[in-house]
Amino acid sequence: MPRSRGRAARPPVGLKAVVTDVDGTLTDSRRRLDPTALATIHRLGESRVPVLLATGNVLPVALGIYRSLGLTTPIVAENGGLLYRRAGDRVRRLADPAVALRAFRRLRRRKLPVRRLFTDRWRESEVALDTHVPISRIRSALRGFPIQIEGTGFAIHLIEPGAGKAPALALALRPLGLTLADCLVLGDGDNDVEMLSAAGWAVSFPSGSRAARAAADYVTRADFAQGFVEGIKSGGLLPPPSRSR
Ligand SMILES: [Mg+2]
Repeated sequence: MPRSRGRAARPPVGLKAVVTDVDGTLTDSRRRLDPTALATIHRLGESRVPVLLATGNVLPVALGIYRSLGLTTPIVAENGGLLYRRAGDRVRRLADPAVALRAFRRLRRRKLPVRRLFTDRWRESEVALDTHVPISRIRSALRGFPIQIEGTGFAIHLIEPGAGKAPALALALRPLGLTLADCLVLGDGDNDVEMLSAAGWAVSFPSGSRAARAAADYVTRADFAQGFVEGIKSGGLLPPPSRSR
């Protein structure tokens, strides 16, 4: 049986939207998008269930996936540092990059061989590091420094304290008349814990971090995209598949 944190034995009736992480949730372990997950997002669209992407990746990458999926909802990118709205292509920055850059410079001064991700050339609100330096060493070097440090499994994010996917989602959902309590939320990383904890129905995966699994109402049997489909079904948001699927 799937493990549950026991917060709720079954999903609440009337979930209205889906919030999903991207890397490790819509992709496989090598970050390849999985057609199974994409087809499920199309089905949610056909059922008029809004789907929001909440990713640690930069906006250009998120926007490419979003457009390919035909989504029109807000996007939470940069781990909550940026909020994009399609109407007018508005981008709101929710974290001060100067805070993250100060932390990054401190790591360099302490001679940690940290490397920013290639995609940081498009990152506007935070700093994302390659995972070759363990997060424990980064935490230790930044002890006492006013910075939030979060691992996604694919990167280590330095972001202004108080920022994150959950506060950005609260802003993203407000114009839709929704909160995270109205949403089925799926995620696999430590950076997903806060949004999972506030979700109406929270789904994580066997491959998810220990903290993400602990924050979930439902941990799927399958990993990655198959787990995504299972997680969506666990929330009762999709009609049973037709025989052709
Ligand atoms: Mg992830």
